[in-house]
Amino acid sequence: MVSLNELKGIGPKTATLLNKLNIFSVDDLVEHYPFRYDVLRRSDLSMVTSEDRVIIDGKVESVPLIVRFRGGLNKLNFRLATINGPVGVSIFNRAFLKPNLGIGTSVIVIGKYDKQKNILSATDIRFGSLSKDDKIEPVYHTTSGLTTKNLSGYINNALLKYGNDITDNIPKKYMDLYNFSNKKTALNIVHNPPNFDKLKEASVRLKYEELFEFMFKINYLKLENEKNHLGITREGNIKDINKLIKKLPFELTGDQKNALDEVISDMNSQKRMNRLLQGDVGSGKTIIAILAMYYNSLCGYQSALMAPTEILATQHYNNIKEILKDTDVRIELLTGSVNKKDKQTMYKDLKDGNIDIIVGTHALIQDEVEYANLGLVVTDEQHRFGVNQRANLKNKGIKPDVLYMSATPIPRTYALTIYGDMDVSIIKEMPKGRIPVKTFIKKENEMKDVLELMYEELKNKYQIYVIAPLIEESENSDLTTVTNLKDKMNLAFGSKFNIDIVHGKMKPEAKELIMTEFKQNNINILISTTVIEVGVDVPNATMMVIFDANRFGLSTLHQLRGRVGRNKLESKCILISNSDTKRLEIMRDTHDGFIISEEDFKLRGSGDLFGTKQSGDMSFKIANLKSDYKILVQAKKDSMEYLKDKENDALKQKLIDSIHTS
Ligand code: ADP
Ligand code: MG
Repeated sequence: MVSLNELKGIGPKTATLLNKLNIFSVDDLVEHYPFRYDVLRRSDLSMVTSEDRVIIDGKVESVPLIVRFRGGLNKLNFRLATINGPVGVSIFNRAFLKPNLGIGTSVIVIGKYDKQKNILSATDIRFGSLSKDDKIEPVYHTTSGLTTKNLSGYINNALLKYGNDITDNIPKKYMDLYNFSNKKTALNIVHNPPNFDKLKEASVRLKYEELFEFMFKINYLKLENEKNHLGITREGNIKDINKLIKKLPFELTGDQKNALDEVISDMNSQKRMNRLLQGDVGSGKTIIAILAMYYNSLCGYQSALMAPTEILATQHYNNIKEILKDTDVRIELLTGSVNKKDKQTMYKDLKDGNIDIIVGTHALIQDEVEYANLGLVVTDEQHRFGVNQRANLKNKGIKPDVLYMSATPIPRTYALTIYGDMDVSIIKEMPKGRIPVKTFIKKENEMKDVLELMYEELKNKYQIYVIAPLIEESENSDLTTVTNLKDKMNLAFGSKFNIDIVHGKMKPEAKELIMTEFKQNNINILISTTVIEVGVDVPNATMMVIFDANRFGLSTLHQLRGRVGRNKLESKCILISNSDTKRLEIMRDTHDGFIISEEDFKLRGSGDLFGTKQSGDMSFKIANLKSDYKILVQAKKDSMEYLKDKENDALKQKLIDSIHTS
């Protein structure tokens, strides 16, 4: 992997900015794909409104005039001759452009147009003119200090200098079959599209490669599982845990009973369990895992439960302790905050078989952790554990049964593909007596109602989550941010209530601290990005307010909403959005995660090429599991065929190796 500072113009400072975008090498850089394309097409000035983004071109007709203001600000004004006659152009802080804007210079101007004054307030001026064909411009996710133009420059430099080293990770057979261009060419096109047809072709090529690699790994694991299916055989009986089930404060639902049966029968069978337990937020997956771990310990084996964050691990630990309090099962919590000495003791106890159930983060599968007889591994919120981690678990030389839990309800057909290496149990039925979260859709100008509803909850000592799509201001976006919401909330409630923020860019320890404070009710309003999406349980939080709700997929909204409604009272969720309210109505009208995700797939499932990329469960750089499902299915078929082919080429070995590293 070539390091970034090999490239012209990238010093340590720029490298740090690029790192923020998850770009650490030249390979990452060329795969930093545009998230959207802008089309430069000449606007018809007689048709535009004052809100529209307007694009015109023409020749400079008057010598640009500079007006200077206090604080070093300036404005540049000139007249542009366009095919529709002269237009006044005005742009802030570009005095430096004046020498380049001689009379007769051809420029393209982008901005907002005031019809009355016949003045275009420009945000951007470029040299050249618009042709008859649309000009397609990539737009990249950036970070402050780095423009789309900078990025585009670095990417093209990288392609120029290292393009010839880029290899194809698609077997030759399929390259030929689909008539794919090589990766270098495809990359060049997606970063500099000449037209939409070529762009489509190139992005299909790149998506196929990404999905092919992904499905190759899944299929590889599947075949491996089938080959060494010999796991632990237990001789117990579900009756052994019935006593505990009877003591639970509730009765298991039918779906829970089925899931438990499937898990126990996997554990008893000679085949190694490799099962995904899928169920909506709050459907009661945890208890199934606890019962399975209890059963495992009755049969004389150790269990490990892994959660994606410390706070979730701690939550599980407390929960398990409570449920198993009358048994002699020994349970321990192993997280980053355990001190070194206690850690060493725990390692020893694990190795000696003195701990029956260990709960923690994925530190549990690191090399220094040895088990006496690990029989069952449970991972919570499995979408956080990628394919490589799945492989890692299996390569520890031990062959425990594995149960994955996921609260991301995805339609069965999709589950069978992307979790193709696993069996799937589904809990659809919700526990009895749940009160659905009452969901409202509000426009931004109804903020007064929203604040009043919030005040009602706060007054009654309940807590509120407030969600924004972004942390801080970014280029070309007028979305609500965590930072400016904090100011807003402080203004409204700051004198009486505690308000704090949490987001993904904070250090894990800082996040945990805030979440703990919130759990302990020391924070009344918690403003956050979607980092709280996963599993956190604060029953006293009875309201969630989501700003720019239209920005989120329905499944994400559903997950977020699942954080409230964990209380005997009716909880409320307020979706704030000025647009897309039809789609949001689905949220108001249903609480079934599977229905919601089906709708989400339907709505966003086609032609999403120019839309925003989904964030969330599977992190692909260019492919989208929903809109690229057909490519995924093809990649699944091809990669299996390729794997089963007796011939072993270098690419196959390279792909297999990549499963075991990283
Ligand atoms: P999730 O599936 O999101 O992990 P949990 O396992 O955390 O859900 O369960 C949510 C809550 O519902 C817990 O407080 C749990 O004790 C409770 N619960 C689980 N099963 C049932 C049931 N059958 N009846 C009533 N409450 C249940
Ligand atoms: Mg859970």
